[in-house]
Amino acid sequence: MLKRTLWTLSLALLVTAACTPVSPPDEERSSYDAWQDDVKAALKGIDSYLDEHDSENAAIVLDIDNTALETEYHPGKANPPVLKAEKYARKLGMTVLIVTARKEHAKEKSLAELRAAGYSPDDICLREFEESKSKGKARCRKEFTEAGHEITANIGNRDTDFKGGYYDRAFQLPDYDGQLS
Ligand SMILES: [Mg+2]
Repeated sequence: MLKRTLWTLSLALLVTAACTPVSPPDEERSSYDAWQDDVKAALKGIDSYLDEHDSENAAIVLDIDNTALETEYHPGKANPPVLKAEKYARKLGMTVLIVTARKEHAKEKSLAELRAAGYSPDDICLREFEESKSKGKARCRKEFTEAGHEITANIGNRDTDFKGGYYDRAFQLPDYDGQLS
């Protein structure tokens, strides 16, 4: 009788073990983790790059969506590796410039969002009515350059963040073929 009970118990345990996944799947978390790994890889070495390119007028440019902020994953929250780079640039005395495809009417809301997330932007340039994303962003960098800033690092995540020049080096985070804005 005891033997039979033990056998039944072992069988029950075996069945339970076989039916319990080793680690429960969590697609949202794993895609976020993969994104964070890719972001860190894209920004690898940025601190020493900024050290080497520090100058009186040095500035960094940040895109907002899915660059400074985790728009796709946690709207309004800072993207930690970018915030870390921003803080490092600021520590060196560099100017922090925001260049975004968001339109002019979103200026105050965007600045408030960035400040609430921990950023200290010195200035922001937004897209004008009917301007394409790449044209608007290039215009913004041109205006900042003409105002005396030397854009040493341009951090964004879409091809449109990098067309048209007016920066020394691109740090391109992933957009997964346009899936991330
Ligand atoms: Mg973006």
